[in-house]
Amino acid sequence: MRKHLLIPFLCALFCGIIQAQQPVKPSTTDIYQSIQKLNFLGSVLYVAAHPDDENTSLISYMSNHVKARTGYLAITRGDGGQNLIGPEITNLLGVIRTQELLAARRIDGGEQFFTRATDFGFSKDPEETLSIWNKNDLLSDVVLAIRKFKPDVIINRFDHRTPGTTHGHHTSSAMLSFEAFDLANDKSAFPDLLKIADVWQPKRLFYNTSPWAFGSPEEFEKADKTNLITFDTGIYYPLKGLSNNEVSSMASSQHLSQGFGRLTNRGSQNEYIEFLKGDALVNNQTVFSGIDTSWNRIKGGKAIGDILYKVEQEFNFKDPSVHLSDLMKAYQLLQSIEDAHWKTIKTKELESVIEACAGLYLEASAETSSSTPNSKIKLNIEALNRSNATIELVSLSQTDGTTLQQNSLLKQNIKQNIKTDYTITNKEIYTTPYWLAEKGTVGMYKVDDINLIGFPETPRQVSVDINLKINNNPITITKHVVYRFGKPDKGELYRPFEIIPEASAKIPEKVIIFENDKQKNIEIIVKAGRDNLEGFVEINHPKDWSVTPERQSVSIAYKDEEQRFIFTIIPPKNQNEGYINPIIHVNDKVYTKERIEIDYDHIPYQTVLEPSESKIVRLDIKKKGDNIAYIAGAGDVVPESLQQIGYHVQTINPENINAETLSRFDAVVVGIRAYNTIDELKFKQQLLFDFVEKGGNMIVQYNTNSRLKVDKLAPYDLKLSRDRVTDENAEVRFLNPNHPILNYPNKITQEDFEGWTQERGLYYPDSWASEFTPILSMNDKGETPKDGSLLVAKYGKGYYIYTGLSFFREFPEGVSGAYRLFANMLSIGKEDIKQAENLKQ
Ligand SMILES: [Zn+2]
Repeated sequence: MRKHLLIPFLCALFCGIIQAQQPVKPSTTDIYQSIQKLNFLGSVLYVAAHPDDENTSLISYMSNHVKARTGYLAITRGDGGQNLIGPEITNLLGVIRTQELLAARRIDGGEQFFTRATDFGFSKDPEETLSIWNKNDLLSDVVLAIRKFKPDVIINRFDHRTPGTTHGHHTSSAMLSFEAFDLANDKSAFPDLLKIADVWQPKRLFYNTSPWAFGSPEEFEKADKTNLITFDTGIYYPLKGLSNNEVSSMASSQHLSQGFGRLTNRGSQNEYIEFLKGDALVNNQTVFSGIDTSWNRIKGGKAIGDILYKVEQEFNFKDPSVHLSDLMKAYQLLQSIEDAHWKTIKTKELESVIEACAGLYLEASAETSSSTPNSKIKLNIEALNRSNATIELVSLSQTDGTTLQQNSLLKQNIKQNIKTDYTITNKEIYTTPYWLAEKGTVGMYKVDDINLIGFPETPRQVSVDINLKINNNPITITKHVVYRFGKPDKGELYRPFEIIPEASAKIPEKVIIFENDKQKNIEIIVKAGRDNLEGFVEINHPKDWSVTPERQSVSIAYKDEEQRFIFTIIPPKNQNEGYINPIIHVNDKVYTKERIEIDYDHIPYQTVLEPSESKIVRLDIKKKGDNIAYIAGAGDVVPESLQQIGYHVQTINPENINAETLSRFDAVVVGIRAYNTIDELKFKQQLLFDFVEKGGNMIVQYNTNSRLKVDKLAPYDLKLSRDRVTDENAEVRFLNPNHPILNYPNKITQEDFEGWTQERGLYYPDSWASEFTPILSMNDKGETPKDGSLLVAKYGKGYYIYTGLSFFREFPEGVSGAYRLFANMLSIGKEDIKQAENLKQ
């Protein structure tokens, strides 16, 4: 397991601006900065809740200016956020955001860690957060992160003393860190973790405050600053040709899925940290006051420091290979020190410095990007010495157990290509994010192997140890096997080598709605992980449903090729729901996973294996009206969902909104945050109201109060607030049980509010004109009732409806009650006369 730690170290070490997938190729200024870091023995751990919470400016400052090992512990992987660059949400978004954090760390020089907590959605206070997360398990994860990383200093992003003022995840991250600060050094706390790492007492805990935390910059000016340390994080690094804030901007711009791509900053800029507990600060306040961060810190370190400080002082930027004999001497000394923690860290750092100083190019590449268990692949090992040092290639040891003796001299700038076979045994596990291997709870990922907890990604299994002698002293450099390929429009590209299953299956539709008892044909796509795949596929389904045919033969000639199958699903007569899963049989093996590929330029290629399943829902639903115009806002799948239940939905470009176009529709549905994101709507709002006046229905989904593009959101007064109901199980009370919207054409009952996900809704209006009728009342625990979630007003001959209910979250999860209520919203005013009279009585 130890050698897998290499990747983050390499990245932290050579933090030049590099492409996500390329091997690092350090220049001499990179090497020099790595030696500076090698000579600093101190660590800082930054703690926050989400990817993109981290203060890259402070992380970069600690890593590049102070030269400390700097870690970011993100409690979650951000799987609850939105994705602005592609279709991936939830677990897959968590994979992307994990890689975006790693990309950010490659730039700012930090290392990245996580816990098992999920980003389950917005939470108002830490009490709620910690009841959904498993607090004890999470505290264990934070304690483990501290015991493994052994930081001298911890800096919390958020204030643990102000619950309710920010996202509950934020405050919880700080509370957990505050508690773990003491527990990390307590042998009786989480004794199971002692197998992995010994206890550790960080020296100081800080909170990364800001003038705004004091109310205003003016208040901050007056405040007592005895416990504050100030840094100018706008300092300039001549060795990089960049300011710290430029590095920081580039790092945080990696959060592209969150739309964080931004302009760079330059110039002086202050950051503040407030001392919370630990060793009191002394007069010349620095983070590391009183902590020895030199080689003298460790027993036997002085002799190593004597050599390495001299190398730093006399560093030869023209030919760093002149330092090889000193570096190798330090390397030998380092191997005999007792402190296992620093020995591991500094050995890896020094190995990278030695490799770089020797101008060594070492690479193990496979002929293919992936292969299956029980197969053999061809590897090419490239070994090149670009210095005049005497370097012998002694042997190659592969993780499959093969060792190839070489005993050949690597002559200056004469490349050696060694071809070898690598056997992937049937014990090998698939390449996939370890935290998604099994189904967890709403709040926590399930990770059975305690050794994996905290790792940003699954350690790569296929690697080659390249055993060398430099000036007759042994040293081993480990390389993970990669796949190298060229694309005419992109140049040379790299991918990590992956182990994949021989067969996988996918159902393109994740939720399939049956609006009546008519059967539907669905498509199943089987993909081969190897050539010549033969077997059969069948569908596992709930007992009230039936599927034909029972099974179909799979026959695929080439790896990565797909075969498509049509199965017919027959729903039961009454409302019912469940899941279908394709099962592929190959010889005596069974495959049930979907192989998902995530391919973006800013992060390394990722393969994710997830259970292949689709939700099937037989809805008991009636509806009136047929043609719906949709105005897209910030993006949701409401149009596709309405199509699933039989509506004709046409997305219209806001520019094309005019009376003539609108006259073709029964209703207009406005997508989430459309009035926050589409300027054009300010010129079209009156046309939409006119449409309602003439008898159309208009349904507006949630918007936020800030940056509204229109003065009038509705034909009558309506004021948005920040009211939200985050508990998806919060009780729903019917304020107007006889209102048509709860009765026609579908009778809405409490059952329709069961099985909702993530939340009830958000940004409800808190005041409205008397023309509006509030329909529902709900609230989170301990709060006053919120009555603005669904407001209906007659305007002219039509109806205007404003709703903050989270239909955009419920539809993709196949929540039947959400569909039935929405059908009523679209049907209002279209009651047949008899029905309408019944309702009036
Ligand atoms: Zn956050």
